[in-house]
Amino acid sequence: MQPEPYDPRAIEPKWQRIWAQTGIYRVDLLRARRPFYNLTEFPYPSAEALHVGHVYTYCGADTYGRYRRMLGDDVFQPTGFDAFGIHSENYALHVGRHPMELTVENTARYRRQMEELGTLFDWTYAVDTSRPEYYRWTQWIFLQLYNAGLAYRARAPVNWCPTCLTVLANEQVIGGLCERCDSTVVQREMEQWFLRITAYADRLLAGHAEADFPEVTVTLQRNWIGRSEGAEIVFRAVNGPDIPVFTTRPDTLFGATYLVLAPEHPAVATVSTPEQAPLVEAYAAQARTKRELERVAAEREKTGIFTGGEAINPATGERIPIWVADYVLMGYGTGAIMAVPAHDERDYAFARTHGLPIRVVVAPPGWQGEPLEAAYTGEGTLVNSGPFDGMPSEEARAAITRWLAERGQGRPAVTYRLRDWLISRQRYWGPPIPIIYCDRCGIVPVPEEDLPVRLPYVRDFRPKGTGVSPLAMVPEFVNTTCPQCGGPARRETDVSDTFLDSSWYFLRYPSAHRQDVPFDPEMTRKW
Ligand SMILES: [Zn+2]
Ligand SMILES: [Zn+2]
Repeated sequence: MQPEPYDPRAIEPKWQRIWAQTGIYRVDLLRARRPFYNLTEFPYPSAEALHVGHVYTYCGADTYGRYRRMLGDDVFQPTGFDAFGIHSENYALHVGRHPMELTVENTARYRRQMEELGTLFDWTYAVDTSRPEYYRWTQWIFLQLYNAGLAYRARAPVNWCPTCLTVLANEQVIGGLCERCDSTVVQREMEQWFLRITAYADRLLAGHAEADFPEVTVTLQRNWIGRSEGAEIVFRAVNGPDIPVFTTRPDTLFGATYLVLAPEHPAVATVSTPEQAPLVEAYAAQARTKRELERVAAEREKTGIFTGGEAINPATGERIPIWVADYVLMGYGTGAIMAVPAHDERDYAFARTHGLPIRVVVAPPGWQGEPLEAAYTGEGTLVNSGPFDGMPSEEARAAITRWLAERGQGRPAVTYRLRDWLISRQRYWGPPIPIIYCDRCGIVPVPEEDLPVRLPYVRDFRPKGTGVSPLAMVPEFVNTTCPQCGGPARRETDVSDTFLDSSWYFLRYPSAHRQDVPFDPEMTRKW
């Protein structure tokens, strides 16, 4: 007998209907005895439909969920939509639709396709980050961070995408380009909201011991956090302020033959002599037009300018010149460096270009006192270092730091490459940041009982490039009353970044039906 050919159009809808009716993939979260939370990344609906990458991801995860179910686990496999954000908004702009309408259509289509794949997602716990019942809690989380001093507003040089017309987090700039549209990102000075993630740098690093991450992920995160141990050393400017510098090599202090400030460093104005000041000013103005990545590129010629000012090397007591150079960044360390050309490649190149002295203080193996052909960055024995001559350089790091600390000129210090997370976006499609500005009271958080701050329907939601969100054009949204004094006040018009929405959705799933809390800690802990 001829076997009946497999007819997916008949068989699959039939069984999918039966699965849906019987709730075969649903699990009682309260009573489950062997909870297994099969968590997959939720999609953002930034296209008309699923693409094959989604299918690739969900099939693997779904297969694993089925396997655990066969082992007898109570498998909870929810999903949802990362529907707010620049990706969905850019897609809406691209096809000339409004994101508020388009997102509803797209998420419905995504869901139908995900169901047609036969996945065992439990849609009764689905979340959608663009729905007020979800984003009121995103705003609530922002308020908790604000109240804890972990969300703050500051003026800072930021990455600006001239195509997306918004700022970007450092993590969204890939090789100097916008991760969404590949435009060249430029620097702008703006007031922005930040989350103080740097306060958690050490905890993040310590967490690697417990996390079951692939080695490559751990390495990436370590480099991203970029913790370095060293010393903060204070150089006193002649007729000027104290200039602290951070260095990982305090053992080379006796070889510091000049100081370099970032063009944005506040001491630049005071240390520059009247003759040099106009040149320094012109140099700084030019540096402002350059991107960070461009400024620090290893192969680029190290430009710089002498300020005319001098500082005292705290170890040798010698006067050393103070330069300004754009390869020193204000956002890293203290915005000033001690330059040790004999033992740092960048400083060596700079010293050669500008005719600055090079003094060897860590003897390379077999060194006879001859001038170096290149910077020696390895370990060795200290020379030309006063009381520390003959000491191994590894040992000298702590010894010199201690010696400086006793004299009040330095201390052990740690620095990180990690920057605080810039989360405000001058765009439309995101949760409004729940903050009110009052002329009398200053920055006032929206009271929790007034959440959500609803995103209004704005017909012209296109970014304007003026540095403010399209919400700023909506007087009914902007104008409000101060929750503290009842006087006239204005709402914050920036929205928060997508990654704030998706930083907590996995906590929400088990409590997706709760309107009174963002998540039930006990339930979330169980799962
Ligand atoms: Zn862009
Ligand atoms: Zn007020």
